[in-house]
Amino acid sequence: MEYVGCNLCEQDETRPWGFKDGLNIVACKKCGLVYTNPRLDQQELEAYYNPSYFDDRTQDADPQRYRMYQLEVEDMSRTIKMKGRFLDVGCANGIFLTVLPNTFEKYGIEFSEEAVEMGRQKFGLNIQIGKLSEVSYQDRYFDTIHMRAVIEHMESPREQLEAANRLLKPDGWLIVSTTPNIGGPIGSLYRERARLVYPKEHIYYFTRGTLSQMLKKTGFTPIRWVYPYWRTPYARVAKDLADFVLNYLTGRDSPPFWHSVMTVYAKKERVPSDGGEKVTVQPRHPERSSTQSKLREGSRFSRFFGRSLP
Ligand SMILES: [Zn+2]
Repeated sequence: MEYVGCNLCEQDETRPWGFKDGLNIVACKKCGLVYTNPRLDQQELEAYYNPSYFDDRTQDADPQRYRMYQLEVEDMSRTIKMKGRFLDVGCANGIFLTVLPNTFEKYGIEFSEEAVEMGRQKFGLNIQIGKLSEVSYQDRYFDTIHMRAVIEHMESPREQLEAANRLLKPDGWLIVSTTPNIGGPIGSLYRERARLVYPKEHIYYFTRGTLSQMLKKTGFTPIRWVYPYWRTPYARVAKDLADFVLNYLTGRDSPPFWHSVMTVYAKKERVPSDGGEKVTVQPRHPERSSTQSKLREGSRFSRFFGRSLP
C-alpha cells in the first residue's frame, strides 16, 4: 500500500469520507478533494490490472455503450471544432476513436498492450502505449485531448493534466468526460455506495468544485459542464428514481442517476513556459473572452444527454 498527500492542494489533513473493499476513502480538509488513501501501490495496481481486467477493453463496445459514444460525439460538436488532432487518453482498443468523424486526425494512448494491438490491427489506429506524461508527442501538438472515464484512475491527475496542457495547442480543448460526480445527489447521499465508487481502481472522486480547482491549477478554464443521463441508453428514469429511494433504504448501491457522472469542456488558458516540464501556476486572467462567456451562456441550455457506464 502507499500513502499519499492531497493531489490538489498538497496538504495532508483529511477526514474520513467512506470505506469500501477494505480501503479508506478520505476528503481533504483544505480543498475537499476525495481520494483513496492509503491506496494500492504500483505493484499491487499492476496485479489488479491483470490481463483479465483488460479483456473487456479489447472487446467491441456493447450496443449501449456504442450508442453512448455516438451521443457524446454529437454533443462534442456543440462546443469544439470537429477537426484537427484529437488524442483519446486511455482509449482501450480505440472504439471511441472509430465513432469520431474522419475530419479528425485521430490518436490514442493506452496502457493495455493487448488493447493497443487490437486497435492498431483491427482499426488501423495510431495508438501509443503508456501514460500521457510519457508520450513522445511534441508540445502544442493536439487540438483536443479527451479523457473518458480515466481521470479517476490516474495516480496523479494533476501531473497528467499538466501534461495535457503542454501537449495542447494554445487554443486547445481538454474534455474530461464521464467521471463520477460525488457532488451530485448520488454522491452526497450514497457516498461509498454510489455506483462508481471502486476505491481500488477509482482513486480520485471529484465534485464540480474540486475538478474546477484542479483544472485551474493545471492551466485550464472550465467552459461547459454536462451531466450525462437524460436520453442516454442507460437512463430508465422511472425505475432509476424508484431505485434511488429503494436502494438507499435497503443498503444497496445506487442506480444510474441524474448528475452521477459529469463531463467538462475546458480550454487551455496559458502556454506553459518553454523547456519546463511543469506548468507554473500563475494567477488566472480576470476577464474571460466574449466567446467563452457566450459558451458559458449557452451551457444553460445544454441538453443533459445521459449517463454512461465507463
Ligand atoms: Zn487538498
